[in-house]
Amino acid sequence: MADFLASHNRYNTMNSWNGNSSYANCVKVNRLGINGTSLEKAFEILASDYWDEIRFPIREFEKSWYGGYTIGSNGRSGGYLVLYEAEVYSPGHRSTCTRCGQLNFQQAVEGSVCGVCRAPRVNLKSPLKWVRAKSSSIDHRMSKEDYLDMSHAWLKDRAELVRSFDAACDQVRNAFIELINDFMVVEETVMVPQKVKRLERI
Ligand SMILES: [Zn+2]
Repeated sequence: MADFLASHNRYNTMNSWNGNSSYANCVKVNRLGINGTSLEKAFEILASDYWDEIRFPIREFEKSWYGGYTIGSNGRSGGYLVLYEAEVYSPGHRSTCTRCGQLNFQQAVEGSVCGVCRAPRVNLKSPLKWVRAKSSSIDHRMSKEDYLDMSHAWLKDRAELVRSFDAACDQVRNAFIELINDFMVVEETVMVPQKVKRLERI
């Protein structure tokens, strides 16, 4: 276990001068074992809004650790998945749209509508619980000897954490590869409703 932990891939999560690092896995597209048109398509997907489609293993991972850990994307064009310490917090929303799910910080009263799609807005039954990264430094600069100094129970827990992190990263990687087979990138112009002030003759 000490070997496994000491030799695991790591990523420097901050500037080199403040020396933070954590367990990481490389998920660079050119290391996915794909080539030709698949690789071309992978780069196309990378330039699109793809993250929501493949992040579900991270939600599962957070849940299984009760929000104590999460996985972040780091490095140029998200080439690394990094293990972070995390915490559960309430973002403070009080109501939500019944149609599009848009969240709102205001309590809904009779006649409240969604700011996006104008459908009725209802109050949330309980406060939302979201997970956010707290620290990006886990076992920074620990040598194999340092690991061996830790208790067996600690090593066992740590190895379990890092193994489940690895498994979640594999799932994210697989989900990305599935995107290549199941989706195509379409270009569209998105109209964003915007409030503008203009002069009108009186
Ligand atoms: Zn809505």
